[in-house]
Amino acid sequence: MADRPLANIAPYITPWSGEAVDASVIVYSPRGGIGYAEETPWDRDIDGVLWTRRSFARGAGTPEYAAVHPQRQRQCMGGSLCQVSGEPAHENAQGNLWLLDEASAAEALQGRAVGAPPICADCVPVALERCPELRKGYALLRVGTPLIAGVHGTVYKRGPAFPVAAGKDYVPYGTPRARWVLAGQLYAHLRDCTPVSLDEVLALLDGASPDLRRLRHG
Ligand SMILES: [Zn+2]
Repeated sequence: MADRPLANIAPYITPWSGEAVDASVIVYSPRGGIGYAEETPWDRDIDGVLWTRRSFARGAGTPEYAAVHPQRQRQCMGGSLCQVSGEPAHENAQGNLWLLDEASAAEALQGRAVGAPPICADCVPVALERCPELRKGYALLRVGTPLIAGVHGTVYKRGPAFPVAAGKDYVPYGTPRARWVLAGQLYAHLRDCTPVSLDEVLALLDGASPDLRRLRHG
């Protein structure tokens, strides 16, 4: 699906400056909550939550590392794809592989929903090498039961003519606020977690990778 050279530049879920951010006005939906004036069936997920629109042109312009491409993040989280390469995440009997920074790992293990999708074994070395957040500390986990729980996005409230943005937050599915959020990321509870050592992951890989040699030899 995604090719290796692009994954080496920026993760699959990272948006690029050439991917246009949609500027459509958010209106009141006839079904309650918010909507787009010209809505298509692709603007909502199966739970009826409205999603941020962003075009697809991966590799165009420069990567926006601090942001997340809404559709590609959702595709990875919902479809168990690697957030770095877009390939299937690594899976064994204990579940899919997750590589989380320390803060996200702590939240996940406390039972809070997180927005980081899983990873494939091939991408673990490149992520550890290039992601500044992971260099500060990380956890590798096998997740037996990832439960899609809600979305993170911009929550709207009633305004004089149009709904107005009232900040970003996590909103669980099935709550009244789910009609008022413009989703940017899909969040999941990571249940049945088993810690995995880096050596266990590296053992899955071909020792010829330069990133891998650097990790093994320091
Ligand atoms: Zn990958």
